[in-house]
Amino acid sequence: MGKALIIGAGGVASVCIHKCCQNPDVFEEICIASRTKSKCDALKEKLDGGKTKISTAQVNADNVDELIALINEFKPDVVINLALPYQDLTIMDACLATKVNYVDTANYEPLDTAKFEYKWQWAYRERFEQAGITALLGSGFDPGVTGVFSAYAMKHEFDEINYIDILDCNAGDHGYPFATNFNPEINIREVSAKGSYIEDGKWVETEPMEIKRVYDFPEIGEKDMYLLHHEELESLALNIKGIKRIRFFMTFGQSYLTHLKCLENVGMTSIEPIEFEGKQIVPLQFLKAVLPDPASLGPRTKGKTNIGCIFIGKKDGKDKTYYLYNVCDHEKCYKEVGSQAVSYTTGVPAMIGAAMLLTGKWNKPGVHNIEEFDPDPFMDALNQFGLPWKESFHPDLVE
Ligand code: NDP
Repeated sequence: MGKALIIGAGGVASVCIHKCCQNPDVFEEICIASRTKSKCDALKEKLDGGKTKISTAQVNADNVDELIALINEFKPDVVINLALPYQDLTIMDACLATKVNYVDTANYEPLDTAKFEYKWQWAYRERFEQAGITALLGSGFDPGVTGVFSAYAMKHEFDEINYIDILDCNAGDHGYPFATNFNPEINIREVSAKGSYIEDGKWVETEPMEIKRVYDFPEIGEKDMYLLHHEELESLALNIKGIKRIRFFMTFGQSYLTHLKCLENVGMTSIEPIEFEGKQIVPLQFLKAVLPDPASLGPRTKGKTNIGCIFIGKKDGKDKTYYLYNVCDHEKCYKEVGSQAVSYTTGVPAMIGAAMLLTGKWNKPGVHNIEEFDPDPFMDALNQFGLPWKESFHPDLVE
């Protein structure tokens, strides 16, 4: 059906590429392009021989001209951005110049301020619309599936949704005292930032990890979870009718939090460059270099993730609660595609989002968040490609 250019060859990209190869009628041809070409070649070697034709390329995605040259050479129908959030705008610029659809899993973040907001990418709306191409923003799990779950709940279960709590539980154990399940720099920037949620149309800010709750997760059990700022709050508050409050919680174990606090206290999580032996280094980037590579956690991680949304709202004039979630098993993911569940739960929806554009099921020129599209074909594809969802009409609620 079409050709996809996949940028990045890390944990999430690896899963997405495996999944494209499981869906060869849609992904006839893919090109894996990243900064380190050997990683792209290693993926090609692992997956070559199936129906999907694979090629590789070296690209610096900070450089728009390099991206344009690569797109003009490969001529993809969609570019799937699985590099880092810093590259979102350059890749969108290249897609605009070449009139190719765009998909990502994380919103743009400037390198020098840990502040993630949609305003930079939403500023491309008119230009994408005029070019007749679609940018699908946030097609991972959260953001991603959480937005699809919200659109599905709105379409099938509610007349209005007043409260959404997004709960992200990772009960996986990798055996290390401290490691992050995806890119450590991005992960630590996210969890060491101030928390926030939206209430009555306004952001309410909290200190980092200030709000803690305990939740009894289906198939996992009780876990401590903390309120974080998360990017989908911004778009869901606009796109879901009737929202009064929307919050995001993520579970963290005590060992992770104690290590993080200590690293913070000694300045290792700072993104301010410092002078070290005559060279400028960013402490957080140095920390990333000494931490376990998230890709190496796959073979050692046991346990499950449970990510989902609890909705409270009204249907036919009556109060209603509804919980949609997915449970994913780290070891099963590793067996299937050689990655742990955090990469898996992001890489699968990235493939599905691109497939929605390639098949024309989703076709809306402009820049759109995932909840703006019809959720039904995406929900079917989640069941088909390894992330089956479950629903509950009487969930425990978060205080
Ligand atoms: P990794 O660090 O494992 O992989 C990132 C890849 O991007 C690497 O291959 C890296 O190359 C490549 N890259 C980085 N900079 C450039 C550049 N300038 N030009 C070309 N390639 C580049 O990250 P993950 O796979 O864990 O995460 C990928 C994305 O997914 C991130 O944006 C992350 O925020 C997002 N994410 C989204 C989630 C969601 O649910 N929505 C959940 C988890 C992650 P090299 O190998 O040379 O370093």
